[in-house]
Amino acid sequence: NAPDHIKAISPYQPGKPIGELAREMGLSERDIVKLASNENPLGMSVRARDAALAALADIERYPDGNGFELKAQLCNRFGIRPEQIVLGNGSNDVLELAARAFLGAGRSAVFSEFAFAVYPLATIGVGSRCIQVPAKDFGHDLDAMAAAVEKDTRVMFIANPNNPTGTFMRGERIKGLLERVPGDVLVVLDEAYTEYLSLDQRYDSLAWLDQHPNLLVSRTFSKAYGLAGLRVGYGVGNPAVIDLMNRVRQPFNVSSVALAAAAAALQDEEFLARSAEINRRGMSQITEALAQLGLQWIPSAGNFVTFKVGDGAAVNAALLRRGVIVRPIAGYGMPEWLRVSIGLPEENARFISALREALGQS
Ligand code: PMP
Repeated sequence: NAPDHIKAISPYQPGKPIGELAREMGLSERDIVKLASNENPLGMSVRARDAALAALADIERYPDGNGFELKAQLCNRFGIRPEQIVLGNGSNDVLELAARAFLGAGRSAVFSEFAFAVYPLATIGVGSRCIQVPAKDFGHDLDAMAAAVEKDTRVMFIANPNNPTGTFMRGERIKGLLERVPGDVLVVLDEAYTEYLSLDQRYDSLAWLDQHPNLLVSRTFSKAYGLAGLRVGYGVGNPAVIDLMNRVRQPFNVSSVALAAAAAALQDEEFLARSAEINRRGMSQITEALAQLGLQWIPSAGNFVTFKVGDGAAVNAALLRRGVIVRPIAGYGMPEWLRVSIGLPEENARFISALREALGQS
């Protein structure tokens, strides 16, 4: 008999797996285009693949529970120290570790309407209260979020860019928020899509850590690095924050294969640049088509875009019948919208023609 707060949780709804649709439709998996989970259409860096395969040779051994080598690479790349890093089984794990270490009964977390679904899950899961702040133009209303902090608030989740809306805030605005939030509120800045930001959008949140020990920056290898299936992410924060998160972490939460692949992926900057470039072009391809179809979309800084179709469930069903998987976001309170991940040019073209047919515009 689970406690009421657990029974009240609505489960996370992932994108439909390719195999499931293939079985339902009697199609070959190769005929299906999945643009539903913001994955990297290029796959992963060859260096990461080689490192993952090499790590299989020692699979009978437990992984390095402290992730020495991956942390060393992260330190090298970002000019940080190992004691500032917590590794996670995907960045979802990092978000949950923050909730486990800093929330609990009698505490609350602040986050925005239309923000990433794991924030309420992580908050409710540890028996804390959610303070959901209405969005502004589908993005975070940072003034309202600062004002929403209550006496018992100990965590604030911010996604930049946000999923599923793709909305982006300039670095100065987040820095400004940090100056206003009480020091006993951990600000979890979720930068899952940060590698997709254009040069003029980029900002260095890690440089704020000295001044703001209540900041935790969360990042992932699932998106631009193309390692979603391996599950590896990291949090960077003040050593005291990281120490507490490490206490509630599973001792071997990141697999040896994931550790090795992530360390190698960090060294392949060329792959990262190529991923961002293909995303930039695919974003233009898709948004130009949305404009031609007369559809509204939310300008996105991520590797996906959310667009308005009216009846999201019906259009989603019509796309599925055409072998195209996108993401309905009714669970986010946006039943009239669908989210599509940016794919390879030919995948984007399949999506566009299926959408045209689904809307009866072919
Ligand atoms: N944060 C955001 C904003 C996301 O969109 C996602 C992936 N959907 C995650 C975190 C978690 O991704 P992962 O656990 O694969 O790192």
